[in-house]
Amino acid sequence: MVGCEAEIDLAAIGHNVSALRRLRAAEVMAVVKADGYGHGLVPVARAALAGGATWLGTAYLPEALALRAAGITAPVLCWLPRPGEDLAPAVRAGVDVSVSDRWVLDELLAAARRTGRAARVHLKVDTGCARAGATPARWPELVLAAGKSAGDELDVVGVWSHLANADQPGHPSTDRQVALFAEALEVAAAHGITPRLRHLANSAAALSVPAAAYDLVRPGIAIYGVNPLPGPSPVDLVPAMTLRAPVMLARQVAAGTPVSYGHEYVTTRETTLALVAAGYADGVPRAAGNRAEVLLAGRRRRISGRVCMDQFVLDVPDAPVLAGDPVVLFGPGTGGEPTLVELAEAVGTIPNELLTRLGPRVRRVYR
Ligand SMILES: *Cc1c(COP(=O)(O)O)cnc(C)c1O
Repeated sequence: MVGCEAEIDLAAIGHNVSALRRLRAAEVMAVVKADGYGHGLVPVARAALAGGATWLGTAYLPEALALRAAGITAPVLCWLPRPGEDLAPAVRAGVDVSVSDRWVLDELLAAARRTGRAARVHLKVDTGCARAGATPARWPELVLAAGKSAGDELDVVGVWSHLANADQPGHPSTDRQVALFAEALEVAAAHGITPRLRHLANSAAALSVPAAAYDLVRPGIAIYGVNPLPGPSPVDLVPAMTLRAPVMLARQVAAGTPVSYGHEYVTTRETTLALVAAGYADGVPRAAGNRAEVLLAGRRRRISGRVCMDQFVLDVPDAPVLAGDPVVLFGPGTGGEPTLVELAEAVGTIPNELLTRLGPRVRRVYR
């Protein structure tokens, strides 16, 4: 390990997908957006398919096309088509596209005519997250338009929605959203649309809301081994990423030595300061300074002073430290290191944000 390194346990991803597959009588769409939550788009996609996922999900179209370019032929849904984007490559590559609005339908129909292939769509209804999706008021109009065009140019594969509060078990909005989704399906059926796939559940819902499973669940964070629920997960999830960085320098300093920008940490005794090769450019949150713990020489140690762009400091009074020694920022927690959930809690964010903010200097190593 020369610099900051993320070790990815692909077997853990396979294990997590297979555990989710067994939990519900539903297919699994592994969500691999944002470079597989920082774990690497294509390796994660392959591991998830090997673990029993039958679908892959991405936010943006280029992410879906990158899967096709890598030779992955499994069904893929991308849910954030953007105005001005050429959707013909999606139709040509057999990538399913989410439709929340009439303009997407029109663009896809035009692309279907140009390519001579049917556009595959999942119609999205907003049941209460107020992000994408047709509002319930506009839903009948959207399904009517889709129903009229269904045939050689348009294949309505799915109807779907997204939950706002599945990570808060028992939140009343979840039941309301599940009920609204059922109504939206009835409206669709009344307009002749009975999709093969109905889907609603992210990781938290896949784990804790059986009524939201329908035909397919769309777990993201859980396939990377992170439990999004406040309580225990009903299945064993194994964290896939371990983040490490080496000590670059180990120096003896006197008591009373102020450390890093702002001098927000001062040594209280003669000690060794270890300089670690990872900073906020690598995804170590700046808020971790004087707050988060890491593992070095068999013990947890709080980061001393501010995290800088490329480095941070540890105060190690009790153990010999040498340049090259490994520091574990987070991992499965089985070797005494903090977990990603602990780090996220220490800095006031969620694991998803930390994973997707790992910088381009962090080398991904696959196991
Ligand atoms: C990101 C995303 C998911 C996965 O969410 P997790 O909470 O990570 O499981 C599922 N569906 C949609 C529409 C998403 O945007």
